[in-house]
Amino acid sequence: MTEIVPAKSTPLLTVAGAQAIVRQHVRPLCPEPITLTSAVLSHVLGADVLSDLDMPPYHKSMMDGYAVRCADLSTGKGRLQIVEEITAGQTPKKTLEKGQASRIMTGAPIPAGCDAVVVVERTTLDGESWVRIADRPPKLGQNILPQGAEMRSGDVVLKAGTILRPKEFGILATVGKTTVPIHPSPRVAILSTGDELVEPKERPDGAQIRNSNGAMLVALVSGAGGQPRYLGIGRDEAARLKPLVCDGLKSHVLLLSGGVSAGKLDLVPGVLREAGVAAHFHKVEMKPGKPIFFGTAIRLGGGTPTLVFGLPGNPVSVLVCFELFVRPVLQRLRGCVDAGPHFISAILSADFSYRTDRPTYHPARLEASSTGWKVRPVPWIGSADLRALTEANALMLVPAGDLRHRAGRTFEVLSLD
Ligand code: AMP
Ligand code: MG
Repeated sequence: MTEIVPAKSTPLLTVAGAQAIVRQHVRPLCPEPITLTSAVLSHVLGADVLSDLDMPPYHKSMMDGYAVRCADLSTGKGRLQIVEEITAGQTPKKTLEKGQASRIMTGAPIPAGCDAVVVVERTTLDGESWVRIADRPPKLGQNILPQGAEMRSGDVVLKAGTILRPKEFGILATVGKTTVPIHPSPRVAILSTGDELVEPKERPDGAQIRNSNGAMLVALVSGAGGQPRYLGIGRDEAARLKPLVCDGLKSHVLLLSGGVSAGKLDLVPGVLREAGVAAHFHKVEMKPGKPIFFGTAIRLGGGTPTLVFGLPGNPVSVLVCFELFVRPVLQRLRGCVDAGPHFISAILSADFSYRTDRPTYHPARLEASSTGWKVRPVPWIGSADLRALTEANALMLVPAGDLRHRAGRTFEVLSLD
């Protein structure tokens, strides 16, 4: 009798291994100057920004009150002669001499001779030109913001790689940076494939289903700072897919869904090859999403190569693959220094028995508690069950095996919020 030796299959590429391959092919898009008014939230700075001035540009009063000399108020009390009134935007003309004060408003420059500001609430007017002060003895520099305390001319006030949020817009305006070097938003073509698909406005009949991946990918891409370009539905016929693929290859990234598994009409890898896409991997040890394809092509029209992802057709596979591979790519292209994905450790809140042959990204609910992050899987019937994701706000990584996971165990979890 001959012993039957099972054929040794090569182990699948791990998620970490696949992510490392993708990283090798991604460079941030070259920064382009844009006007401050056309920059948008979440754009990423492509160069350091330096201040062109000191802020504040002069010693500045931080309160409405009186500019005084500490030496005149050693007990905190005194009667001082008012020599001028200085409002924000005015340059003081008088130097404070012994026994003198100037009425001063918030934001106004401090007059020469002054070394403290007493707030107006601690003062009373005594006729037109005298003020009585009843306060604690003023401290040197009290209520005065010294010139350059916030920034000095030539300081790097924002570093390359900074994500623009409202406060960064304020800083750019402060330093007069009206033209800002920004990494462009990557253009991302989206192509759904499958003979069974109809657009959402249509009612599917017979063996048809609506194209849910198209709308979901458009939303995922724009939420991740990319510019989605929806190419529609490509039918499972090489001759009809190819022109759509070639159109998609003009973008920085081409995302296809469907047609990458081992079925009869899974034509995508072959069509990509024919269109000049070099394959870097096809299949990764994960669930869902195992058939994922990644390749690159010389971009039509020049520039950085087009990054091509063939995502498996099932909607949850699409979402999981997007979070693990595509979102970090978009982050890197648009200049983010820390591209993710960022998993956090969370404690399983109830026992969970699960059997799976590959590391599985299971839809889950992640919640903060007084003792740290808690996670629980949501009921899920597999990669086609997008509805389960409406209950979920995270993916929890469940190891392969037929395992009973006890409450209290730690899991790695990826937030989807
Ligand atoms: P495929 O990867 O093409 O074999 O597709 C796997 C499964 O995902 C099949 O049940 C398809 O009908 C389904 N599917 C493929 N594309 C889409 C799509 N755009 N929207 C929703 N389901 C899809
Ligand atoms: Mg298909």
